[in-house]
Amino acid sequence: MHRRNCLVWLLAVVCCFALLPRTQAQSKAAADLIISNANIWTVDPSMPRAEALAVVGDRIVAVGSNGDVDDWRGPRTRVVDAQGKLLLPGFNDAHVHFVSGGRQLDAIQLNDAATAQEFARRIGERAKVTPKGEWILGGNWDETKWSPANMPTKELIDGLTPDNPVFVSRYDGHMGLANSVALRLAGITAKTPDPPGGTVVRDAQGNPTGALKDAATAYIDRVIPTLSHDQRLAIVKRALAYAASVGLTSAQHMVAAYEDIAVYAELLQRSELTTRIYAAPSIIYVDDLAKLGVGHAFGGPYLRIGALKAFADGSLGSGTAYFYEPFLNQGNNRGLLSDEMHPISLMRDRYLKADTAGLQLCTHAIGDEGISTILDLYADLVTAHGEADRRLRIEHAQHMAAKDFDRFAQLHVIASVQPYHAIDDGRFAESHIGHDRASRTYAFRSFLDHGVRLAFGTDWEVAPLDPLLTVYAAVTRATLDGKNPNGWFPEQKLSVAEAIEAYTMGSAYAEFQDKEKGSITPGKLADMVLVSDDIFSIPPEKIREVRVLKTFVGGRLVFDSANAKQR
Ligand SMILES: [Zn+2]
Repeated sequence: MHRRNCLVWLLAVVCCFALLPRTQAQSKAAADLIISNANIWTVDPSMPRAEALAVVGDRIVAVGSNGDVDDWRGPRTRVVDAQGKLLLPGFNDAHVHFVSGGRQLDAIQLNDAATAQEFARRIGERAKVTPKGEWILGGNWDETKWSPANMPTKELIDGLTPDNPVFVSRYDGHMGLANSVALRLAGITAKTPDPPGGTVVRDAQGNPTGALKDAATAYIDRVIPTLSHDQRLAIVKRALAYAASVGLTSAQHMVAAYEDIAVYAELLQRSELTTRIYAAPSIIYVDDLAKLGVGHAFGGPYLRIGALKAFADGSLGSGTAYFYEPFLNQGNNRGLLSDEMHPISLMRDRYLKADTAGLQLCTHAIGDEGISTILDLYADLVTAHGEADRRLRIEHAQHMAAKDFDRFAQLHVIASVQPYHAIDDGRFAESHIGHDRASRTYAFRSFLDHGVRLAFGTDWEVAPLDPLLTVYAAVTRATLDGKNPNGWFPEQKLSVAEAIEAYTMGSAYAEFQDKEKGSITPGKLADMVLVSDDIFSIPPEKIREVRVLKTFVGGRLVFDSANAKQR
């Protein structure tokens, strides 16, 4: 070694020793991030409130007062002064359709079209700027906002869309309207039969009106070109940015396509996956996942698989939720079991296969008999394979039979619910199913009283992705039409604390990740959201106006309102 280098080395070694006592006194690594002067709601009962926290790498290492956490400060620590604002664990949406939601961000918007004419006008405008032959999709129309609230038919839009196939969906995702070009491409005529679990809506002469319900939408889906990899990648990036802007740090993607999972994996490798994803493909692929042998929640902190999404029935608004008694306003219609339930033994066999492989089950069930039938099938799993930590889920769990709350709890089934649907469906639910059944609709309080665990989500793109709007819905139950300012079935309201817990720990539990995230606790992933107002002290009706200031995922700032102009 050269003599001068030798000296430099010696000096370096001496310096190190000189610094050692201080480092040892601290006896820990310096934090990468400290958030101080915050009003922290931890969702951790051992310390519900705190002022500051420290993060090393992607984990929280300390939570406490400003003084407690200041020990972790080092020369390179980034310090965020929260200026007294409320800091919550990051929101975890237990039920989203992340890619169709992302696609919807730039698609035609029909949900707030106040009349059928406005609905048609917007489709016509979109057709003018859409290349010939290209599909016009999305929309989320809602005919209940029109008067009269008639289902739209193809005649409304045919004249405006001669060169483009159109298939615009109803906001609940259980119905769509096709124009004549789309019907022709799909080969749907008066002779086309209704598939099991679906309806081709027809006029008095038996001709298709263009409206297709549930399984009948598959006729059209078959002829819509699938997204290219690049299109899907662009959509997911758009969705990730949007999710960060509304404070969402985890998303459980229901009915994820394999191609979606491939896009997540690619973004993960590039360190661009800024929302943690748990992807649940359709249960029709149970054999694939069973063959992989991975079991539930397999993967890493940013991407997991191992759940399957199944469908028991349809939706309330489309008249396809499966009830014991008929809808009040639709003859003797009492809804439909989904095509996956024809016959019911098909679903039972798939469940048994999934359970043997250790996969988690998430089943959409909305009508009381739909929910009850799924509880029967879940009970069969316990009979067949014994007790286990399965975290079986019912998605939506919307209209409960009185007899089923106890059973729900005994089977440890998680109610994965979407409070925004309550303030939306609350506008018309009683006219469809009457007061008694409506009293057990979105019965969040009843679930908690019976010891059922709740997980919160939105069902985006069916409802807005905004978690604060969802919290507002659970806390106020004020229907969108303004007719129930004190709450629709107010006895089912939750407190802000209960709503936040369901959206954080509840959703984390529902994906087997309650030890990793869901609260601001040392050792957990540093997923947090800083918001503009203290939702615990403002009037509940103001919660929907609260904005997200900063979103952190694994200690990384993924959204900052100060330098972002995102919606
Ligand atoms: Zn859904």
